[in-house]
Amino acid sequence: MKFLLLYNPASGRVNFKSKLPYVTSLFENTDHELTIYESKAPRDLEKTAFKEASAYDVFLVAGGDGTINEVVNGMMKSEIKPIIGVLPSGTANDIAAILGINRSIKRSLKIFFESKPVLIDVNQINQQYFIYTASSGILTRVSYDVSRRHIKKYGYLAYVIAAMQDLALDYRYPIRIVTNGEAIDCECVMVLGLSTNRVGGMRLINFSNAKLNDGLFELRFFKRSKKMWRFRFLSSLIRGGKRLGEDLHLVSDHFFIETDEKVRWNADGEYSCNGSIEIKTYKEAIRVFASDRTIKKYL
Ligand SMILES: [Mg+2]
Repeated sequence: MKFLLLYNPASGRVNFKSKLPYVTSLFENTDHELTIYESKAPRDLEKTAFKEASAYDVFLVAGGDGTINEVVNGMMKSEIKPIIGVLPSGTANDIAAILGINRSIKRSLKIFFESKPVLIDVNQINQQYFIYTASSGILTRVSYDVSRRHIKKYGYLAYVIAAMQDLALDYRYPIRIVTNGEAIDCECVMVLGLSTNRVGGMRLINFSNAKLNDGLFELRFFKRSKKMWRFRFLSSLIRGGKRLGEDLHLVSDHFFIETDEKVRWNADGEYSCNGSIEIKTYKEAIRVFASDRTIKKYL
């Protein structure tokens, strides 16, 4: 098979460039062919993924969730789509964790060389495609608001500090949801949409039993209807995303959400857009390599 390695030198704490000779060596004495492409600017990988989609069998994506998101956005615009194999090397590697791919390059390539790919859903928020999360409100700007400099210096701790600062802010925004033929109004501190039960390095085991190929997306609306809302919100997260009585949990393949223009939406850990949104799910839109454990659990 023909592999194109797409990597982002700005991802994570260690530049993936230093691992290229090792990756190349693992392709020696195999029937597979490797080409390497380094991202030169933001969205460069999106353009390259679109341009090269019909020329390769597999896109090896080295980076974090943002890098994978870029590649998927390029691929989705192409009729022909290569298989995605993720080599996690970002600071946040939720997608790799969901797919059951760890940081061992040798073990990951063994999966890519020997196993069959699986089909998973792709979601869309307004003009942007995403894989595993779309959210707004409290804590949701932390994943993209922390500076590269702080991430290089402090790693995961940089996110923890930013999360504590964000928790002190006063969140309250109006939401009107239109889905499955009905409209619902509420006031939220957070809207959290997930395609599995993992986000921000946490496993929210009580959030849902969603599958990666069910053609559906799940949204939790954390309402601000009671006193001690911060405490209640955190207690829900600590209990694995257990739903509180006042909160709303909806499942659909299509949502319209009306809200204030200043509300910011996060998709796959990056800033996506402001204000009102439409979310759609495309069932089994791309092929990926995943571990046996992930296939049992999420498919
Ligand atoms: Mg789903």
